[in-house]
Amino acid sequence: MKDEIGKAVELLSSADRVIAFVGAGMSQESGIPTFRGEDGMLNDESIQHRFYRKTYKKDPKGTLEFFKGFMEQMDVDPNPGHYALADLSQMNEFVAVTQNIDGLLEQAVAERGYDPIPVCHIHGTFSRVRCDFCFRMGSDEEEMGADCTRCEGLMRPDVVLYGEPLDDEVYEAAEVSAENADVCLLLGTSGMVYPAADIPWVAARNGATLIEVNPAETELSKLCKVKIRGKTGEVLTQLVEKLS
Ligand code: NAD
Repeated sequence: MKDEIGKAVELLSSADRVIAFVGAGMSQESGIPTFRGEDGMLNDESIQHRFYRKTYKKDPKGTLEFFKGFMEQMDVDPNPGHYALADLSQMNEFVAVTQNIDGLLEQAVAERGYDPIPVCHIHGTFSRVRCDFCFRMGSDEEEMGADCTRCEGLMRPDVVLYGEPLDDEVYEAAEVSAENADVCLLLGTSGMVYPAADIPWVAARNGATLIEVNPAETELSKLCKVKIRGKTGEVLTQLVEKLS
């Protein structure tokens, strides 16, 4: 692992543009379970089906109740990995492309006192609500589960459920960043959820060097020049120490 960290430090210190492709593993050390793996939410069918559009269509109110509980569970703090990534974001031209809906990276950036950084939320975020029917974004005061003031549709979290399309604009912005990156960090993602997982492939096809930080081998490992087998909280902290 030591040598791999050395290689990552070298690559990051000579890069102009860096993107971080972030997955659920990044927030595991904050206490939010991942989808796959031993503690994965997808091992529990009663939870798994709640992330599907078809369940939401059948039982919208029940799904929103589930999400309310889920959001309370997400009321946790950033972990050392989020703070280290916030520090890394200040060292190069930097874009985060995140599959996470928890907002913990932005919280870490704000707590460090940095200006907001560009973050592409390809699966949306729990910190916003929108109308399920007309897509109107809710104001801060509007609550999940209320009727939309424009069309009376149901206000729901602005996240992408399985069976729902991604936001084209957000996805295209992520693709452009991947095309232009020198280095792409893969942080705590299994790389199994498409089309999100196409982003590292776009980076690789356009000449970026990929660095993976994950305790386990993944579908994307074969694309990576550097593979650091460890937790993002520990590894990113070491990287920042060496780069500072
Ligand atoms: P995933 O659950 O498929 O895979 C998690 C990956 O993280 C695994 O490869 C695992 O080895 C790795 N991992 C576990 N602990 C880690 C740690 N401490 N440090 C580094 N890596 C660690 O996650 P995914 O690839 O992001 O895809 C699942 C989907 O789940 C995403 O679309 C995302 O929207 C959603 N999701 C989000 C959250 C969140 O917002 N925190 C939580 C669960 C699921």
